[in-house]
Amino acid sequence: MPTLIDGKATATQIKAEIAQQVEALVAAGHKRPHLAAILVGNDGGSETYVRNKVLACEACGFESTLIRFEDTVSEAELLSKIDELNHDARIDGFIVQLPLPRHIDRQKVIESIDHRKDVDGFHPINVGRLAIGLPCFISATPLGILTLLRRYGITTAGRKCVVVGRSNIVGKPMVQLMLQKEHGNATVTCVHSHTKNLTSECREADILIAAIGRPGYITADMVKPGATVIDVGTTRVPDASRPSGFRLSGDVDFESVAPVAGAITPVPGGVGPMTICMLMLNTLAAAQKTYYPD
Ligand code: NAP
Repeated sequence: MPTLIDGKATATQIKAEIAQQVEALVAAGHKRPHLAAILVGNDGGSETYVRNKVLACEACGFESTLIRFEDTVSEAELLSKIDELNHDARIDGFIVQLPLPRHIDRQKVIESIDHRKDVDGFHPINVGRLAIGLPCFISATPLGILTLLRRYGITTAGRKCVVVGRSNIVGKPMVQLMLQKEHGNATVTCVHSHTKNLTSECREADILIAAIGRPGYITADMVKPGATVIDVGTTRVPDASRPSGFRLSGDVDFESVAPVAGAITPVPGGVGPMTICMLMLNTLAAAQKTYYPD
């Protein structure tokens, strides 16, 4: 059987390491890192993500502030709150939980966040700096994946990595991160819904990263024997046997792929906990002004 890459345990370990650093900072007279999150509406997935982010702040010894708006909030009102947070010296970093209601321009919101507080790493300045190899906040999911690979001793340099999906928040920054000499240093291919011969492209991968949002899409015939398979997908699939009425399903058909893979992440308990953990790491870096000194 393959190595099961345990994101939950790794994230717990990293949060404990962050908490130690925070206590050392506080003992040296610094304030606790402070993350704020803006949540618009009552989307079930977003509620869960934000709740888990607040819990992660507690585990790391951070302060956190949750700001809620009804889904009828105007774009102007939301932008005004963002401006307030940009100028609030008590807040080191903040996020606006996506998705947003249709009447709000998501890109306008992302670009209104001060890039020095953009701990999600979605602002074009952070995205651009990642692309040219400058220090910046890196999108939490790709950063979590690279961290998992590192902690499990999986070599990326010089290996062939295939990223399935090209979204701005996962696929594209994952490609950039794996490509950068100082990060993944891999040979990277990105495939998407218009790729010809997707199966054979995937079969070339030493490291296959699936971020498409299609449950069970990656099957054993798409995986090179011994490859590392990272499953980013988290789709809610109806499941009457669960109290919640649903279960989370990954993009990888775990049952068929696991016997072929050399290492694999489960869903849940793989990439998801690492994403939240990397948001904490970015917030710590914001508090310490690691990337953008005054
Ligand atoms: P997205 O914005 O919907 O992008 C999906 C990408 O997959 C698009 O680039 C799309 O191609 C591609 N795609 C869709 N169907 C495909 C197919 N049949 N073959 C090849 N490519 C296909 O999604 P996302 O935000 O990147 O999220 C992807 C998944 O990861 C979702 O399940 C999401 O919930 C999950 N996610 C998990 C975490 C975590 O922390 N675990 C974080 C973020 C997202 P086109 O560009 O051609 O349309």
